[in-house]
Amino acid sequence: MISMCDSLIHLLGDQLSLNVSALTGASKKTDIILMTEVSEETLYAPHHKKKLVLVLSAMRHFAEELKQLGFNVEYVYLDDTNNTGNLTSELQRFISKHRPKKIIITEPSEYRVLSYYQNLKAHINVELEIREDDRFISNKREFENIFSNKKTYLMETFYRKMRQKTGLLMENNKPIGAKWNYDKDNRNPIPSNVKPPKIPYFTPDQITLDVISLIEKRFAQNFGDAFDFFFAVTKKEAEIAFDDFINNRLTNFGEYQDAMRDDLEFGFHSIISMYMNIGLLSAVECCKKVEQAYHNKKCNISSAEGFIRQVIGWREYIRGIYWLKMPEYKTLNFFNNTRKLPSFYWDENKTEMQCLKSAIKQTRVHAYSHHIQRLMITGNFAMLIGVSPDELDEWYMGVYIDAFEWVEMPNTRGMASYADGGIVGTKPYAASGKYINRMSNFCDNCKYDPNKVIGENACPFNYLYWNFIINHKEKLEGNHRMLYSYLTLKKKSDKEIAAIKNAADIFLNTL
Ligand SMILES: Cc1cc2nc3c(=O)[nH]c(=O)nc-3n(C[C@H](O)[C@H](O)[C@H](O)COP(=O)(O)OP(=O)(O)OC[C@H]3O[C@@H](n4cnc5c(N)ncnc54)[C@H](O)[C@@H]3O)c2cc1C
Ligand code: SF4
Repeated sequence: MISMCDSLIHLLGDQLSLNVSALTGASKKTDIILMTEVSEETLYAPHHKKKLVLVLSAMRHFAEELKQLGFNVEYVYLDDTNNTGNLTSELQRFISKHRPKKIIITEPSEYRVLSYYQNLKAHINVELEIREDDRFISNKREFENIFSNKKTYLMETFYRKMRQKTGLLMENNKPIGAKWNYDKDNRNPIPSNVKPPKIPYFTPDQITLDVISLIEKRFAQNFGDAFDFFFAVTKKEAEIAFDDFINNRLTNFGEYQDAMRDDLEFGFHSIISMYMNIGLLSAVECCKKVEQAYHNKKCNISSAEGFIRQVIGWREYIRGIYWLKMPEYKTLNFFNNTRKLPSFYWDENKTEMQCLKSAIKQTRVHAYSHHIQRLMITGNFAMLIGVSPDELDEWYMGVYIDAFEWVEMPNTRGMASYADGGIVGTKPYAASGKYINRMSNFCDNCKYDPNKVIGENACPFNYLYWNFIINHKEKLEGNHRMLYSYLTLKKKSDKEIAAIKNAADIFLNTL
């Protein structure tokens, strides 16, 4: 049946907010909101089952909320028989059905999806309005301007501008506490007697239970389990989760931000990236709440600043880099790495390295691991053994509940693997077992010895680290932040170097 409407508003799965720009001015009488679950988006990466549950369940809940508010909603379920399986073909189907005067979307967060809509423009006879995604503090033009006369893309430069722009933790245009950045205070290991409180678990309602059984049936082979899903799927629940962080974990967030321990699931982290990324939480509102908590003496400045820096600094900066450098960014491979990802990234039982076992297990069970596990364990290892950035991107894009290309890729290609050759990081985040031993208790239960570089049971991170330094001397020696590593390398004898290379070769051949 054909029914006419003024505007057809197409909302995507990561735009689940009443404040999203496509909904500005939406009419409950004459507009139709279209939401589509499409197989293409479920298949373009090997998504963790929990990620699929989160997005589909949150979409279904948001559609219900819109209906209850009186909006006209067309909702296409993944297993609807008429579903064509692709965002733009679904949109075309509903253009034919409703013959709208105009299509409105908020700019998709991914380059790939934006290109779909830009291509579609030429093939439809209706105006397509693409509105800016104003859920972010900064935008593409501002990011470009900030770095227009700079030689490097320093996050700190951008972050200070964002502090000034938002006024967060500022007084008379100066940073509260007289320091912009408390990162140095945020690098302590967690002592074994410190027990982080549990994070809230949300019992799945019927909508979520339906999605869980759909995902377990249709994506049975995907990574992880959906049955024990407990994340928030509505704005209300996500707010409860965030308030719980403020009340129970924020105070220790700063100090233990980088720490790892094999019995920790979520530590003192906020566990909100996925909610911000799909629209359930607003980044600015979260930062304001943290600032208020600091003023109410619920946390010290290093925790408050540490959190706010991650959100208005790193998160926004990473997005800025993505849009500035795409589509070339997706092809960067500074070290020309070609190795396949070891199969144990999909099954932690296939490795005896406790640090990797623990990070991968947590990823499989919760579709989550914190920043340092992603950067210094799984990312570091993959860089040291020379995994192809495409393989690594695919893994990070698939396994984490918060993974969307705009945020996953610059973190993977920029931070973890240095595939961008230094756009994001000023040096590769390469580290040996010594760092892992200092920041965690993984090595206590490992068959390898973090203090041995070669010889029986030497920690693979140690000889792989030196092998990496040796192999990439030409590309890295000139980097002043690598000076210490290359000075230390100079002190190693030819015999030591040969033994390191031999140990690395033997190990790499076993992968
Ligand atoms: C290799 C690699 C891949 C990553 N992939 C993703 C991804 O796909 N999606 C994603 O949201 N984050 C990604 N991150 C960043 C970071 O690891 C996660 O945002 C964080 O672990 C989420 O947990 P949390 O909410 O408990 O964060 P917290 O540690 O509590 O930090 C608070 C918030 O800061 C933001 N944040 C912190 N660091 C970053 C960063 N480097 N980039 C962007 N936002 C940041 C997040 O929104 C996070 O929720 C990646 C990091 C690395 C090193
Ligand atoms: S000894 Fe090496 S491999 Fe084992 S947990 Fe420590 S860093 Fe990881």
